[in-house]
Amino acid sequence: MTIITTKKPFEEVLGALKGAKKITIVSCGSCAAMCQTGGTEGAEEMAKKLEEQGFQIKTVIVPEEVCDNRVMLKDFRKIDEDLNDTDAILTLSCGLGVASIVQTLEKKHPTIPVFIGTNTEFMGMTERIGRFYMRCRGCGDCLLNETGGICPITTCAKSLMNGPCGGMVKGKCEVGGYEKDCGWILIYERLKQLGRMDLFTKLRDPVDWSESGHQREVIWR
Ligand code: SF4
Ligand code: SF4
Repeated sequence: MTIITTKKPFEEVLGALKGAKKITIVSCGSCAAMCQTGGTEGAEEMAKKLEEQGFQIKTVIVPEEVCDNRVMLKDFRKIDEDLNDTDAILTLSCGLGVASIVQTLEKKHPTIPVFIGTNTEFMGMTERIGRFYMRCRGCGDCLLNETGGICPITTCAKSLMNGPCGGMVKGKCEVGGYEKDCGWILIYERLKQLGRMDLFTKLRDPVDWSESGHQREVIWR
């Protein structure tokens, strides 16, 4: 699984960094590296572009996983002096990376602003580099056991629980101009293949979206 990111337009990044001069770049060595938005190459590209605009790059780090506070604590210890002389951090990671950095900096460098150079798209299944697909949205109440392993939340354009809807034509979905397969036809075909049409005819309640709401946490201890 990879959190899929794409590059923000450079002008937008410049706008965010307005007023800052000395920049530390934190570029994720995991998902963002896979998406070619971060990693060593992404960081080098960004550093060069910023330098051309007159910014001073204090330091560049490529942590293994920016979203892991333990990794960030360790890596920030190594660049503490640079952080003392940094106007802003530019993160090349998913949004989780920024949250992780802000939390990690809380004690020692709470006033350094943290900006992001990417847009976080979705958590994706990887077919190969450059081909990523949203197949789960982390709804918190997984239905895959009833749908032949095909997620109706992400595969049906309307996240319907009892499809297909009237917008299906010849197996294609009306949303997006009949280019994509209807998720519920895919589920139907799969359940038929598995001999589980009993699951297809089962009536499901509407999704309780409160399960996938804000500020969700999983805490073991
Ligand atoms: S139903 Fe779909 S969105 Fe929800 S957890 Fe399962 S795969 Fe993910
Ligand atoms: S046509 Fe199929 S995929 Fe599209 S919204 Fe209707 S049920 Fe969902």
